[in-house]
Amino acid sequence: MSIGGTEAQEHRGTEDRGVVSRLRAPVPPCPRPARRAQFTHLPIRSILNSPQQTGMGFWSLNPYVGCEFGCTDCYARFAHRYVVERGGGDPAAWADDAFERQVFVKREAPDLLALTLKPSRLGDAAIAIGTATDPYQPAERRFLLARRILERLAQFHGLNVSLVTKSPLVTRDLDVLARLAERGRLTVYLSLVSVDVPLIRKLEARSPMPQVRLRALEKLVKGGIHAGVMLAPILPGITDGVPQLLALMRVAKAAGAAFVHASPLRLCPAVRLTFLPAVARHFPALLPRYERAFDGRGCVTETYARALERRVEQLKRRTGFGSPERESSPAEPLQWALPL
Ligand code: SF4
Repeated sequence: MSIGGTEAQEHRGTEDRGVVSRLRAPVPPCPRPARRAQFTHLPIRSILNSPQQTGMGFWSLNPYVGCEFGCTDCYARFAHRYVVERGGGDPAAWADDAFERQVFVKREAPDLLALTLKPSRLGDAAIAIGTATDPYQPAERRFLLARRILERLAQFHGLNVSLVTKSPLVTRDLDVLARLAERGRLTVYLSLVSVDVPLIRKLEARSPMPQVRLRALEKLVKGGIHAGVMLAPILPGITDGVPQLLALMRVAKAAGAAFVHASPLRLCPAVRLTFLPAVARHFPALLPRYERAFDGRGCVTETYARALERRVEQLKRRTGFGSPERESSPAEPLQWALPL
């Protein structure tokens, strides 16, 4: 039986109330006790990575190496290992969870940035904060490096800055973010792969809960910040289903997100190390498919990537995030299984 006009509106009304109540839901306590990380000063000679150094089309900076949030799909673990080895540490003693237990702190980052930043050198390229580790991870409460970096950047006019985080702590710095946005361009990405709380707890040991991140997003948007959701990485067979993606896009919309940016998992060696054991533990039936489906560079197949992109675009249009120029592309059936 099809759903008629009034019924459909009622149905949509119920859905919307469901979305909003999910956003307002109380936050369950984290089942894992907070772990006390060790903080180690990391002396640095530069803080900005150029596009040439990284092969990305923007400048980047990360005030911390290591992160207590401990996501299984984090690709920054090998950078941490490299720092340990370069500092004379025993590589054999480096364990997967060293990334979460020992956080390196680039204390001089804000001052070094102030001394070395020459906007004319940047060209048109943006500065991206948090490309490797979360700038608003728990260490930031104590060291205030992200805040002080933003303050330095806000002294300039015309910069193009972006920031990605999973933490509501970013809203602490709304005043500086607003100043930065006034003087140039600023985009904040709240990173969230799912609104499924038990799933998040399986995959991200100590990250903030989805509703906490969404409330932070709401607060940023109300504060006039151009902010949206970084729906990445989308996990094949786990978070790439229509209901999961749709639920996330709906709560993002309800929180006022200006955009949703989505991309699939890259199963690079650093990610394999912690993510495949998590797949084996929680989704054992998927493990052989994961081991088969990614190429040597850790990328999903072309077919999967294209199908996922179409699905995401279709759901974005359905939830009000679609790009107008693609509105006329033909609708696709939504309930197909993506070919992992
Ligand atoms: S929040 Fe980001 S940097 Fe921290 S563990 Fe998770 S993915 Fe890695």
